[in-house]
Amino acid sequence: MPAVSPATPAKTLSAPQKALIKLGLKRDIDLALHLPLRYEDETRIVKLAEARDGDTVQIEATVTHAEITLRPRRQLLVKVDDGSDTCVLRFFSFYPSHQKALAVGNRIRARGEVRGGFMGKAMMHPSFKAAGGTLAEALTPVYPTVAGLPQAYLRRAVITGLNHADLSETLPPQVGWPDPRGAMTLRDALTFLHHPTPSVSMIELEDRSHPAWVRLKCEELLAQQLSQLTAKRERDQLRAPILRPKPGGLHAQLLGVLPFALTGAQDRVGHEIAADLARRVPMHRLLQGDVGAGKTVVAALAAMVAVDAGWQCALMAPTEILATQHFAKLVGWLEPLGVKVAWLIGSQKKKERAAMLALIESGEAALVVGTHAVIQEHVKFKNLALAVIDEQHRFGVAQRLALRGKMQEGGMEPHMLMMTATPIPRTLAMSYYADLDVSVIDELPPGRTPIVTRVISDGRRDEVVSRIGAQLQEGRQVYWVCPLIEESEALDLTNATQTHADLSAALPGVMVGLLHSRMPVVEKKAVMELFTAGVMGVLVSTTVIEVGVDVPNASLMVIEHAERFGLSQLHQLRGRVGRGAAASACVLLYGTNEGGRLSETARERLRAMVDTNDGFEIARRDLEIRGPGEFLGARQSGAPMLRFADLQTDAHWLDWARELAPAMLDQHPGLAERHVGRWLGGKSEFLKA
Ligand code: ADP
Ligand code: MG
Repeated sequence: MPAVSPATPAKTLSAPQKALIKLGLKRDIDLALHLPLRYEDETRIVKLAEARDGDTVQIEATVTHAEITLRPRRQLLVKVDDGSDTCVLRFFSFYPSHQKALAVGNRIRARGEVRGGFMGKAMMHPSFKAAGGTLAEALTPVYPTVAGLPQAYLRRAVITGLNHADLSETLPPQVGWPDPRGAMTLRDALTFLHHPTPSVSMIELEDRSHPAWVRLKCEELLAQQLSQLTAKRERDQLRAPILRPKPGGLHAQLLGVLPFALTGAQDRVGHEIAADLARRVPMHRLLQGDVGAGKTVVAALAAMVAVDAGWQCALMAPTEILATQHFAKLVGWLEPLGVKVAWLIGSQKKKERAAMLALIESGEAALVVGTHAVIQEHVKFKNLALAVIDEQHRFGVAQRLALRGKMQEGGMEPHMLMMTATPIPRTLAMSYYADLDVSVIDELPPGRTPIVTRVISDGRRDEVVSRIGAQLQEGRQVYWVCPLIEESEALDLTNATQTHADLSAALPGVMVGLLHSRMPVVEKKAVMELFTAGVMGVLVSTTVIEVGVDVPNASLMVIEHAERFGLSQLHQLRGRVGRGAAASACVLLYGTNEGGRLSETARERLRAMVDTNDGFEIARRDLEIRGPGEFLGARQSGAPMLRFADLQTDAHWLDWARELAPAMLDQHPGLAERHVGRWLGGKSEFLKA
């Protein structure tokens, strides 16, 4: 069966063929590189007496007893004996054909997981057939799959792919693999990993330290480095407007009207950005800075350089609340300087939107602030020169590309500044973000007091409520965040509503507001305004406030069911307080109602929050707890670029790939192109964003 060509019309494809495409398995080489998750050993028959609890084994035995019992539920119970021990086979769903095949006296071959209970050994729903027949010569691969794609079909497809794919070497001949054990050919490595001989060490296979695995991981890391470097070099061929601050111009004027002096770190990254803007190639820079580090003003200063030169800027933020806040802040800073700021959000009135679109198209609006609404097709800029993406990890690759596409000038690209409060650990910076320049604001504005974090059981809620009372008395404000998990949205909304009612009752005379994502936008806006203005004392909210909200007078953050949140989310939430001079605190309330225990990872997350306020340390721990795949999220990485290599354990191969990539591109461009094509195929377009 040949690999499915993408040109085949969808309606003629069978379900498994469609599933193959869904898995990205379109070419022969994709199938050849689709490696097993694990293996089953069908090469031998195991004696029951030797099978340990939890082993998946194949046995041959004689049926000694078979019956259908009704308790605890209807099931077919079959007892077998292989001379060394006995085992009970249980089937909860079965057909008369099962009973016939499993009749007393029959000899069968069964495979399944052995459970050694008090009553002796047992297998649940083992697969079985008549005893005898040939044994497999190699371990049986079990592939990652999706619904509608049976293992047997996938196995056949992989074998065909492996036979047809071009597996010729792409590594320059004089370069060695970093590990001499990786010296096996690609063909040998793949053939082995798909069908390992039974004598192989299962441990080396499973922890992926076997030479064949090393070979593939190195290949994969090299492909990733090559593609990142290619993207970077291609971008260096592009042109962007040269932007330099004018003496006494808007940049200087904005610095003059700010109510604070820049921190040393803000000043430094400002210079890094300015140097990029003054070049003929588009900037592609990531601005990292912990929550509250003051990234917005750095972006605004960069924007002023562009505006002074007669160009437009866009600032895109992930939520309406955040876009609205940015808009309010920027209008406050910039309109006195004569800079017109437009804004675009999804829920805008038609008339207002039309007016904004006109301002943007005519170029009258020098700065455009908004949500995803900014990248919609009908939004036309006159001359966009700088695009800023706030909380960039919340946007997908396609959205970043769309914003870049808003530059109208022929052959040019806008400068891009991406901002994030989620720091990127070194290994990720070297791999997923290898083509980005990175600036770091590693200093908080002065006068901030560190946030004290406490983990408190939900049973002590009353104490927390009295603490809120104390904060309010001092004229401070309080956030109370409730989780909103999509699967149980209705239930969680009830929780937030209930908490809102409870707090309102417990705090007479205090305005307690409620904010959740299901509310109409005007209502959300009204609530936010009351809180920002300091009229509202307590804001109960689902995680809509997660990103970027800035109310310096708020000094207490209570997070309910903190155990349900991810670590970076908790850190972001905590960063809503500690923005002013007042001592601030974060209370992590954890629920003990479901079984009374926290999971180990939840415990680790909460512990990390208490241990440190440092975003980098939080990110490092988060990566450790979750691993890079989840840390990055599919949305962010666009395509899962690394399937096999593990950035924690394989960092030394990453160094090797990073060194080799530039030399290979220079001296063996043809091999480099083949290598990237083989590994990343149709995905490379995505990798450029
Ligand atoms: P983030 O990096 O999380 O986006 P913001 O840009 O929202 O942080 O800044 C947080 C707060 O700190 C804002 O109120 C901002 O005006 C203020 N701020 C920024 N830079 C300074 C500074 N150098 N000195 C004092 N306050 C600052
Ligand atoms: Mg921000």
